[in-house]
Amino acid sequence: MTDKQQAVIIFNAGSSSLKFGLYAIHGNKPACITQGEIENLGNESSARQAKFSVYGNNTRTQLLALTTHEQAITCILERVEKDYPQLQLAGAGHRVVHGGRKFSTPVIINTRIRQQLQDYSHLAPLHMPHNLAAIDALQQQRPELQQVACFDTAFHRTMPEYEQHYALPPVWFERGVQHYGFHGLSYEYIASVLPEYAGSSADAKVIVAHLGHGASLCAMVQRKSVATTMGFTPLDGIPMATRPGTLDPGVISWFIREAGLSIEQVDELLNQQCGLYGLSGISGDMRKLLADKHTEASRAIDYFVHHTQRAIASLAAAIGGIDVLVFTAGIGENSALIRERICRQATWLGIQIDTDANNNNHRKISSASSNVTILRIPTNEEMIIAKHTLQLITQL
Ligand code: ADP
Repeated sequence: MTDKQQAVIIFNAGSSSLKFGLYAIHGNKPACITQGEIENLGNESSARQAKFSVYGNNTRTQLLALTTHEQAITCILERVEKDYPQLQLAGAGHRVVHGGRKFSTPVIINTRIRQQLQDYSHLAPLHMPHNLAAIDALQQQRPELQQVACFDTAFHRTMPEYEQHYALPPVWFERGVQHYGFHGLSYEYIASVLPEYAGSSADAKVIVAHLGHGASLCAMVQRKSVATTMGFTPLDGIPMATRPGTLDPGVISWFIREAGLSIEQVDELLNQQCGLYGLSGISGDMRKLLADKHTEASRAIDYFVHHTQRAIASLAAAIGGIDVLVFTAGIGENSALIRERICRQATWLGIQIDTDANNNNHRKISSASSNVTILRIPTNEEMIIAKHTLQLITQL
């Protein structure tokens, strides 16, 4: 029996980054000890290129010669052991983007489940291979550790049938072609804290705009997902950093038949070359576009704002109105200008922003006369993963 403090570690693996969080177990609740990130992975140069940051009161950053997720996991585990010798890891949780039809709740990963996750890899090629690389690296390095997969698709399994189905012959639904939705861990976190921000309105008609590199919106009633903009894959919905959002499906066959692109080229085009980056030819990063004076940059921003406010109206139609609008994720939490522009185009829905509150990044940013409460809520997907991980490993 050890007298060390038990803890869980959380990983959120992206294409070139690995975010992590360390949570102490207090009773049945996780308490965040530290969070950090290794960025710029996958860069083959032997120079010290990867940036390892540990966030907190005194954020520390170091440049390291790391290229793979496996090396990044080794580095994080070594750092945790060195900095926190009083902790013992009891389990690890992972963000896994696609849970397909099979997974509507978090699961403990075993060999069979690992194989099933592989089958969903092609449905989210920007994310799944990296999510799985982190799981495999941890399995290799710490095989005794229980690993839990938490799915971005799971939160949307409460959507009514007409939101989960496409207008396709049923055989395709049976084969797994359906409207899954993503960013569910972020929406679950927002749903969990919403009463603190909105009181009883939390259970009314709520639309959450998760605006980051990947971006989507979700309509909730009673804090459950009723409709969302992403679909079968995270390509659908509003335009994103490098993904186009909704596209006439006829464009895909045109790309292949008329433009002669291979399936791999189409995947690469739609996942990496479109969206804000494709439109502007400058960058997919909103901060860079806002700082850029070229008309291509402002055109891409206009497009993003237009389609986001249009999605708010569409989701309001899906739930018969809107009582609360929440902005979250990188753009939603940090760009007062984008929030203001989206709200100004949606005033006909009764949305009225308070400019001062918005510019000062307050929690509540709607004006007194607004029919809709507008909130800015920082998301915390890692906390939701920590909670689920703790719940599952303590049930064993
Ligand atoms: P992801 O988790 O999907 O990688 P984030 O939620 O971190 O993405 O969001 C990244 C986006 O947020 C980028 O487009 C970045 O430019 C944007 N962003 C971050 N801070 C600001 C800011 N102050 N103003 C405008 N955009 C910002």
